[in-house]
Formats: sequence, structure tokens, C-alpha cells
Amino acid sequence: MQKNDIIELKIEDMGVDGEGIGKYDGMTFFVKDAVLGDEIEARITKMKKNYGYARVEQILSPSKFRVTPQCELHRRCGGCQIQALDYEKQLEFKQNKVRGNLIRIGGFAPELIDRIMLPVVGMKEPYRYRNKAQFPIGADKDGNPVAGFYAARTHSIIPVNDCKLGVEENQIILNEVLSYMKECHVASYDENTGKGLVRHVLIRYGFSTKELMVCVIINGNSLPKVEKLIDRLTAIEGMKSISINQNTKKTNVILGDVTKCIWGDPYITDMIHLRDTKDFSLTDTAVAYHISPQSFYQVNPVQTEKLYSLALDYAGLTGKETVWDVYCGIGTISLFLAQKAGKVYGVEIVPQAIEDAKNNAALNGINNAEFFVGKAEEVLPREYEKNGVYADVIVVDPPRKGCDEVLLNTILKMKPERVVYVSCDSATLARDLKVLCAADYELVRVSTTDMFPQGVHVETVVLLSKVK
Ligand code: SAH
Repeated sequence: MQKNDIIELKIEDMGVDGEGIGKYDGMTFFVKDAVLGDEIEARITKMKKNYGYARVEQILSPSKFRVTPQCELHRRCGGCQIQALDYEKQLEFKQNKVRGNLIRIGGFAPELIDRIMLPVVGMKEPYRYRNKAQFPIGADKDGNPVAGFYAARTHSIIPVNDCKLGVEENQIILNEVLSYMKECHVASYDENTGKGLVRHVLIRYGFSTKELMVCVIINGNSLPKVEKLIDRLTAIEGMKSISINQNTKKTNVILGDVTKCIWGDPYITDMIHLRDTKDFSLTDTAVAYHISPQSFYQVNPVQTEKLYSLALDYAGLTGKETVWDVYCGIGTISLFLAQKAGKVYGVEIVPQAIEDAKNNAALNGINNAEFFVGKAEEVLPREYEKNGVYADVIVVDPPRKGCDEVLLNTILKMKPERVVYVSCDSATLARDLKVLCAADYELVRVSTTDMFPQGVHVETVVLLSKVK
């Protein structure tokens, strides 16, 4: 077998990145865009010693789990890896991924996992859930401004004003920005030459307040006839904040350092409601957040409410506890916890996020939350060893690489009654749980929430309890 050979494959499994997996002549092949259950003709694109990669040439018999994706461009865009897979099956794939990692990497018994793992929490409407979109602006072959994404290995933009994960307002806003650019002869930025002005349009939408924010990222410090752009955008219902961000560097980092508000407030407000974890119905408890163009904010607000409500539920607070929220970001979880705890401490490495966390605490009249800037693996050991801080409950929500070992050891020394681990990568979660459960903790509950329908990532929240 060699590159370009055509083979027939039955797709019998799915890899962690959503690719289809089939066997031919004892060899395993990974096939992008093939769906579990498909029978396909595939062209080999790369051979390794014991496995290979192939691409779909023709679908001989489509899987019964194959559905028509809402976005025609999903294969070329690459943002949604499993849009062609039935949503129920997507959820099953994610649940199995977490279960598999806990067993394989974490070393937990399958019977234990099956007993304590709750059904995956999916979405009723698994499209149009994102509250944030960032569209690159470029030019079509006639030089007209377009919004879209770069086709693989080229610098030509494939126009797409309407990503099906984003809100419908995105399209309206992009059309106004592009019309303004045409009317006022404002050039799109060109990655190759570094010339031109408009690089990206960032849009944020508050799902519960219906407030809209637009930030235009430019290669310069001002837009010509900017009042024409403002007139167009302010005619859109819900517009609350318009700003310009300056990014004159040759980089693929989207935002530059300087943001100027040119109309309205420099932020929008959104609310995150606590949900009843029995049926995820909304409760009266909510926390308000100010979100600026640069702020980190979870992109799927509906699922964030469910995930954080589970985390709060697992924390088991009665009003008296001292809680540490480690890797706290802008304090989303901390401020939720603060309503039910005696005292909450948050730790986060990004200073601006801690500024946001403090402002959001004040905005909600929360005065039992205190925040530290620094590395979790430095702040927590220092506060514990020097100042003797204490925790009834520790919540961690680390980035994909998981918790630092020093942090895990500090948790073991501090001996909180409960540890709630919120994770965006179940492989590192499993690795860290193995450390905690080899010592004084036992795994009590596991729950997965689908924050990214059509993509392959999944969030997990786990409760660990101190063994008496
Ligand atoms: N709980 C937050 C999101 C957490 S995402 C929320 O609800 O909004 C993970 C966070 O960990 C990010 O904000 C990132 O900046 C922070 N981080 C990454 N490495 C860190 C470290 N070593 N110490 C502390 N925070 C860190």
C-alpha cells in the first residue's frame, strides 16, 4: 500500500479529533470527515509503519448517523469537525471519550465510572450558541471587501457572513461594516503585504440582555469617516458598544494592545443564571458581568450556566464554607460560589482578568470574594505555608494542560473536604485525578457538558471527596 492508492473502508470507530477510523488489510486508517458507520472509498494520503491517513473519495454507503450539516462550508472551514454526525451520536462520542480517558489514563474501574457518571448534558438547539465571533476581513479577486475565512494553504478568503454557530445578528453587522468599507473606500488588510486597514470584526452578544458589541480591528489608529460606520451600526437594535482596536503588527494574533471606544459603553453586560441541576430550569439567582472586547468569557452561555450550576451543586455549600477557586479567570465561578459560601478566594495568572473579577464582584455587591494574581502553583502553596490559609472546598478549572503537580500536592496538604474539578480536557483530568485518588480522595461524581456542539471538545465536572 502506498500514497494515492484507493481502498475501501468501513468506518468502525472515531478518533479524539472526530476523524473516522477504519481497517484495511490489518492496517488502521484515519479519515477526516468520514462518519462512524460510513462505507467509503478512500485515497491514501500518507503511510506510516503501522497506520495511515486517507481522505474520502466517495461514500459508497452512508452511515445511518450521517446528517446534512447546516453549513455547506464545514469541511473547508475546519471549525466544526463533526457537523455531519447526528447530534445524539456526537453526545455519545463525547461521553465515551471522557469515560475512556478516566479508565485508561486515570486507572479507574469501568464499574465505578458507570455507576457514578451522569448522562451527558447536551443542548436542545445545537447551533447558533456562540456569543462571540471574530471574522477576518479580506478582499475577493475583484478587490471588494469580504468577511470569511482563509482557504487552507492560501491567502484567498472564502466569503462566509453567516457561521451557523454564531447569532444571526453577525450577518447584519458584517453587511453594514462591508457596505461602509465600500462606500468610504476603506481597504481590507492584506496579510502578505501588511497594507490595508480593516483586519477583523469582533462581535459579542449578551444572550440574556440582547446587548451587542462591535470591535473593528485595524492596521492603523483611525477609520476614515467613522461617523458613517457608527450611523450604520447604531441603527441595529441592541447595539451598546462600538470600539476600534489597533493592531499594526504582522501577526496572526487578532487583538492589538490598544482599544478605543468610539460609541456607547466600552463593555456590554450579560447575566449568568444559576440553574436547578434537576432539570436545568432557570432560578432567580444570577450574576451580572461587564464584558469588554478583550475579556475572556465563556462562548456558550446556555451550557456555561448548566456546567457552573453543577460545579456549585458539587461544592455542597451551606453558607459558612471557605472556598478557593483556582484558575478563576474573570471570576465567573467564584462569584457564583460567593453567594452560597462564607468566603471565596480566586487565583488567576492574567492581571486584567482579576481586574474584571473585582469589578464584577462590585457590580453584584459581592464582598466576600478576594482575588490573587499569580500562578496557582505559586500562590496557593505560599498562602498555605506562610499565611496558613484553609479551604473547605477547592474548585479548579485549569487550561487544557491540567493542574501543575505542585498545586495538586498543595491540595493534598490542605485537605479540603471536597475538590470540584472542572476540565476542558479529559485526558489531563484523568491524569490529575489519578494523583489525587492515589492519596486521600475518592471519585464521587462525574458529569459531562457539551459546550461545543459540532466540535470535538467536551467539558467535564467531577466531585472528589476526602476519604475519612
Ligand atoms: N473559571 C474561569 C475560566 C478558567 S480558564 C471562568 O469561568 O471564566 C483557565 C484559566 O486559567 C485562564 O483564565 C488562564 O488565564 C488561567 N491560567 C493558566 N495558567 C495558570 C496558572 N499557572 N495559574 C493560574 N491561572 C492560570
